[in-house]
Amino acid sequence: MTTYRSLFLLLAVIGMIGGAPLHAQKGRGLHHRALLVDTHNDCLSAQTLAGRDLSQPLTEGHSDYYRFKKGGVDVQFFSVFTGETARSPLGYYHDAITEIDSLNRLVLRHPEQFNFATSYREVRQRAHRRRVVAMIGVEGGHMIESDLQKLDSLAARGMRYLTLTWNNSTEWATSARDESGAGAVLSKKGLSDFGKAVVRRLNQLGVIVDLSHVGEQTFYDALAITTKPVLLTHSSAWSLCPVFRNAKDEQLLALQKNGGVICVNFYPAFISKNFVAQQRYWNGPGKDSVFALFSKVDTAQAQQQWQLAMAAALDKARPGIADVVDHIDHIVKLIGIDHVGLGADFDGIGFVPRGLEDVSSYPRLTTALLARGYSTSDIKKILGKNVLRVVKANCP
Ligand SMILES: [Zn+2]
Repeated sequence: MTTYRSLFLLLAVIGMIGGAPLHAQKGRGLHHRALLVDTHNDCLSAQTLAGRDLSQPLTEGHSDYYRFKKGGVDVQFFSVFTGETARSPLGYYHDAITEIDSLNRLVLRHPEQFNFATSYREVRQRAHRRRVVAMIGVEGGHMIESDLQKLDSLAARGMRYLTLTWNNSTEWATSARDESGAGAVLSKKGLSDFGKAVVRRLNQLGVIVDLSHVGEQTFYDALAITTKPVLLTHSSAWSLCPVFRNAKDEQLLALQKNGGVICVNFYPAFISKNFVAQQRYWNGPGKDSVFALFSKVDTAQAQQQWQLAMAAALDKARPGIADVVDHIDHIVKLIGIDHVGLGADFDGIGFVPRGLEDVSSYPRLTTALLARGYSTSDIKKILGKNVLRVVKANCP
């Protein structure tokens, strides 16, 4: 009896302390069996353009082949990006082609590591334990330079989503930054007739309409026109973190009707209200107080002290994995399990949540979802199945 009782007690203790490791073990297994699709990564701009080779292990940035595979990333949408000021005097479109070419070179040189896909069928055929399937997303309508022929040409070069705007509005679509009043003064919001023609053409070409970064009016105008499900490739929930880059509950409900998917962005300033408050403080009163202390002596020193203090405070305010799961949870509770995915924005964000340090950290998210009570089939939808449904509907 005594032996049985001690054995039982021992098992109970192991069970208690073993709960978390068991989730982790189950999580890792499930994670690597499931197909993981991330819809937004800026490593072409952050790493490749800086001359770094993603096929090699890198110490900089958030991504490289080895970290993708450690993180179980099967399909990565590589973001093609140029800012409001073009990098080259030849302009935005030229910048886009340069970035697409940099991805082409990577795939051509390392076919054992990276493979292209331009359709759902190719994703299914090419997804492989040891390879990363590369898809192209163009982040910002300014890169078509208001020319449908350039849009066609980017589609022919493999573009499978177009984010209608980045932070900057175009002549034909207004951005979230500008519509929120934080940027340019607008005379009219939403999509122009040409903007509507862009959406129609994207549908026709099998290119997904991406509504991250766009203003609310552009969002609703695009949903009224598109005949295909859309993506928000890297945005989170406004009601948990009210910033212009996130989607409001009414927008999420409209997305549900469309059959689209919102892919949660990991950027702490889109996840955590507290992080945003710290950012505001250190760019406002916090900055003033540091400058008041130091600038009489030396402005350069004031600048340095302010940056150090801000970096330390923001690092301390970083949210954790549970906060990212809160966003997923909110979306699932509001519009169901079929409309959420992942678009972390790695290599495009200056801070990351604790525990989600780079693309190799994804298995921890699966473990956290299991611990939150999500089933295996729910987690597979979040990791990739939902986005693949949208890919299939747009480009079978
Ligand atoms: Zn972005």
